[in-house]
Amino acid sequence: MGDVKYDVAIGLEIHVELATRTKLFCGCPSRFGAPPNTLVCPICLGLPGSLPVLNRRAVELGILAALALGAEVAAESVFARKNYFYPDLPKGYQISQYERPLATGGELSWEGPGGPRTARIRRVHLEEDAGKSLHGEDAARSGSAAGYSLLDFNRCGVPLIEIVTEPDLTSPEDARAFLETLRQLLAYTDVSDVKLEEGSLRCDANVSLRPAGAAQPGVPVEIKNVNSFRFVQRALAYEIERQAARLAAGHPVARETRQYREATGSTESLRSKEQAHDYRYFPDPDLVPVAVDPEWIESLRRSLPELPEARRARYRSQYGLTAQEAALVTASLPLAGFFEATVAGGADPREAANWLVGELARLLNAHAADPSALKIGPGHLVELLGLLAAGVLSRPLAKEVFEESFLSGRRPADIVQARGLSQTTDEAELARQVEAVLAAHTGPAGDYRAGKERALGFLVGQVMRATGGRANPGTVNRLLRDRLGREG
Ligand code: ADP
Ligand code: MG
Ligand code: ZN
Repeated sequence: MGDVKYDVAIGLEIHVELATRTKLFCGCPSRFGAPPNTLVCPICLGLPGSLPVLNRRAVELGILAALALGAEVAAESVFARKNYFYPDLPKGYQISQYERPLATGGELSWEGPGGPRTARIRRVHLEEDAGKSLHGEDAARSGSAAGYSLLDFNRCGVPLIEIVTEPDLTSPEDARAFLETLRQLLAYTDVSDVKLEEGSLRCDANVSLRPAGAAQPGVPVEIKNVNSFRFVQRALAYEIERQAARLAAGHPVARETRQYREATGSTESLRSKEQAHDYRYFPDPDLVPVAVDPEWIESLRRSLPELPEARRARYRSQYGLTAQEAALVTASLPLAGFFEATVAGGADPREAANWLVGELARLLNAHAADPSALKIGPGHLVELLGLLAAGVLSRPLAKEVFEESFLSGRRPADIVQARGLSQTTDEAELARQVEAVLAAHTGPAGDYRAGKERALGFLVGQVMRATGGRANPGTVNRLLRDRLGREG
């Protein structure tokens, strides 16, 4: 690539399916996974004479998303027809918003590896989804005219918002982190179920390169419809390499739309911008402008939960969590709620956070468990951490009890009692173990007496082992120091 360095600019256009029960302009269910063409009616099939009726809940969810992004909601927005021909679009046009979108401005911030990062939002608008083409196996195999396609119109008219960012992202990792953060925000606000595997969140990525420091933006290439965040990152990395190689060789980058190929990890040209559609947008005469009064906006704003960014900041200042701990514990609203309830129950905040993002996450993973069907609640963790803090349980035993509690839903105190697990508090018994360990390990004992502090850790470990983890490490520590004649 020579020694020319380039600055990268990436802007994203994200389509999000809204979590409404019904479609944007008719009463058909907007459910995923029904048998093909069973969730359709004359309106979403675009039959002549049918008239759309706007779904109020979809507007509300769009406004909630806009508010969560700090965007300004327009007092009036307008639906427009975006005209194009494609078999999965029976009306011959998509109802979208163009000149007057639902909301403009806003931003989204996240914790990058080198510190906080922010990207500006350009607009948030409402639109309907199109149907799905299913391409027959024959078509895929031979690429010949012998192939066929099937159409499923169930998705026609499902409500979407499109979120468009400014080209503020500067690397593939940045783009991925932005998408993860956006997904988290949309889940917090219940705007969407954000199931990537069901296409609830889909992304077009625009990327350009310009010589380092140049003010003039580079020529953007659009990568269409990538359906996983990992693939967005890979497609962008490939595209940046490709464009850099072209520019370094003195070739211009063509303004075009490209498609990501999962099999090869590369992008290939779909159409040039000269072939770009002229959509002939015009206001939809069947729909009145969407009027949103300030009281409606304010009542929706009040219904928002505390958002991840605000929570992260509060957990750091109020509970003393590190940036990393705060980010992990706010990953989802249920997890953050679990954390707060555990702290409200009297647990130490950092201890609670570390058990949740450490042990609980490990157990969920190890047992392939469903986080939404937990058998334990904050009360279980409060009790467990209480037993730990009181010295009834050692750390290894506490982990054992937690796992059993996690699997069965039994209270930690009950498990401790039933299994006779509580820590040995009998000092005479511990003193006997200390004697035995010292007799068996005269070397380390001598080392400690000679000033080698680290030898004590070894001896404590031996006593813990001899008691099957049931000794209190603090007590063992004290007994050893007393016995070896050095003050701690
Ligand atoms: P439109 O699709 O209406 O033509 P733009 O092409 O300006 O609008 O913007 C579409 C998306 O492309 C936005 O997400 C924007 O951030 C991004 N984009 C625009 N210019 C560039 C650029 N030079 N480099 C990278 N992304 C860009
Ligand atoms: Mg565009
Ligand atoms: Zn319908």
